[in-house]
Amino acid sequence: MPNYRGFSKPQFADGQHSVLDWMNWLDSLGALAPFAPRPLESCSMCGGPVGLSYEGDRFAYCAHCRAYTRSIDLLVPAVYSFTNTIESMLHRYKDFGDQYRWLNLPLGSLTSMFVRDHLACIDNHLGGIDVVVKIPSNNRTRGFDHLDLLLNSVEGGATLNLDDEVLTRDHTVTRPRRGELKPEAYDVVDEAVAGRTVLVFDDLWTSGSSAASAAAALKNAGADTVAVMTIGRQLNGANGYENSADLVTEARERDWEGSGCVVCS
Ligand SMILES: [Zn+2]
Ligand SMILES: [Zn+2]
Repeated sequence: MPNYRGFSKPQFADGQHSVLDWMNWLDSLGALAPFAPRPLESCSMCGGPVGLSYEGDRFAYCAHCRAYTRSIDLLVPAVYSFTNTIESMLHRYKDFGDQYRWLNLPLGSLTSMFVRDHLACIDNHLGGIDVVVKIPSNNRTRGFDHLDLLLNSVEGGATLNLDDEVLTRDHTVTRPRRGELKPEAYDVVDEAVAGRTVLVFDDLWTSGSSAASAAAALKNAGADTVAVMTIGRQLNGANGYENSADLVTEARERDWEGSGCVVCS
């Protein structure tokens, strides 16, 4: 269990403030490291650490994504997340009660900016998105839907038009474990996705098991194409896994200014 850092609400939050204020605030915390373009020596889908082949070349895909590529056609995270940035914010926001609920403003601002700037790229690339769904929560006791709240935190901001009926969580099945592909954890309305292009929204890609399992469920229900958009792609440098430390160093140097998505950069 990583040690999640705390955040104090900036003063401007109590007065008139804008999406730009929150973007600057995120930037000052090192939380705006664009995911795209994917670092050369990273997984071709998730931008995560990859091992070396027998010949000493980096593999194209990490061990998880090798199994996920059958279910996910495109993965589009907005930023790289580190232990003390987006991941900590999401965790505080979701599970530390009302005093951290304001974190929906920076997280929502980032999401809204990314949707505004890149939803059209993704839509074009896929030849038109038919259905947009979110990964349903594993937590039934939270009392608020954190992804809904986040997507609607910026008044008049760009957002996603979610269809909440199409993909739901089957709570009789335990959540997918790290790296596990478990489509049976999700229920899909088959006729809503058969032959269609589906965009799945989630907050953070860590091992990708929830998004990949949901994507697999959508594909099993007949979806033609499944793309996944996330706010963050988590990198843990300290675990020493493959080339993760190098990736963290490279990603931490990135600037938000003029950044693209995996489709347009
Ligand atoms: Zn990967
Ligand atoms: Zn783009």
